[in-house]
Amino acid sequence: MTTHPQLELLGLNNQELTLLVESLGEPAFRARQLFDALYRQRCPALDGISNLSKSLRARLAEQGYRTSLPAIEQRFVSFDGTVRYLVRFSDAQTVETVWMPDGDGVEETEDLLPGAAPRQLAVRRTAGNPPSRRATICVSSQSGCAVNCQFCMTAQLGLQRNLTAGEIVGQVLLVLNDHQIKIGRDRINLVFMGQGEPFLNYENFIRAVQLLVQGTGIPESRMTVSTSGIVPRIADFGREPIRPHLAISLNASNDVLRERLMPINRKWNLAAILEAARGFPLRSREYFTMEYVLLSGVNDSAENAHEVVALLHGIRAKVNLIALNPGPEIAFQTPTAQAVDAFQQILIAAGIPAYLRRPRGLDIYAACGQLKRSTGLVSLG
Ligand code: SAH
Ligand code: SF4
Repeated sequence: MTTHPQLELLGLNNQELTLLVESLGEPAFRARQLFDALYRQRCPALDGISNLSKSLRARLAEQGYRTSLPAIEQRFVSFDGTVRYLVRFSDAQTVETVWMPDGDGVEETEDLLPGAAPRQLAVRRTAGNPPSRRATICVSSQSGCAVNCQFCMTAQLGLQRNLTAGEIVGQVLLVLNDHQIKIGRDRINLVFMGQGEPFLNYENFIRAVQLLVQGTGIPESRMTVSTSGIVPRIADFGREPIRPHLAISLNASNDVLRERLMPINRKWNLAAILEAARGFPLRSREYFTMEYVLLSGVNDSAENAHEVVALLHGIRAKVNLIALNPGPEIAFQTPTAQAVDAFQQILIAAGIPAYLRRPRGLDIYAACGQLKRSTGLVSLG
């Protein structure tokens, strides 16, 4: 018996599926059925694709094709409803994906729509309709990360490898299935803010976005990608016909500080990042999100806040402040609530919309910068 290499269908687009089914002598509409089964119905295996004939399924399998969602190796559930999934791929490499149920508060709505104009953030609820579920899924784009930001636990893993488009999409489908989500009824936001730097795995990331929009049906307006500032890819991203909102991890108010916190600043400094932002074709009413992790006594002074105001002059950006989420071997401290508030007030007084990002799943190492395959729970005592 001949053995075939395993060829994964998840990750292929409509055009590629068309070529494939035509090569098997099947009509093109079979490709559309397959596309629908993979991305919209979220079928976890070839066998489950009931709208394809048995013989076509058998022939695909014979040729070595399969479709598989990644496996859930572990689930960690937080007291706030956040779930951190340790997700395993076929080569045993793992990443994390986080499910964050959203409440009804305006502050939480801010978390939902990082790219939307701040004034549009009022919560809309229609009385009488069946409750639709709302959640945000935080997706990984690489296993580990090479960027080495000093405050981030993912950095400690180093880069393990890029994820394929199918592996990026697979994380989302897996979590949607786990929560029996119905796109259309439920409101799902995606943030590409898990492990890895999406713009260092650009093509797979963009392909995953296209499949999730066109196949799964999640609108691009409900997606946000965060980059540590890979400048050439910011320009490429601006030219994409389908693209999420853009968040940029600023994290420092001058180059000396940023270089210390994010070594990548030596390659692309603040001036280069802000120039790329100025040249970026924002859509009408769209804002950049500038993320700023506050580290006590390091980048959280009033002077730092005033520097941020000056940097952002003329850029349509709002700022998401994130008080450091602590972790082992992270040499920084979380600022006090007063320091965070004072920083935020300076930005607001200067006319910059500034929000505080609520940490989610802190007790299970699910919050920003904590994704490092930790298996233990955090002692909150
Ligand atoms: N690699 C991308 C996206 C993932 S990180 C990027 O860096 O932008 C998502 C956000 O978490 C970034 O804004 C990053 O600055 C922030 N972050 C990293 N470590 C953190 C920590 N320990 N506490 C709070 N936020 C952190
Ligand atoms: Fe990588 Fe982002 Fe962590 Fe920096 S903050 S090490 S870019 S995941």
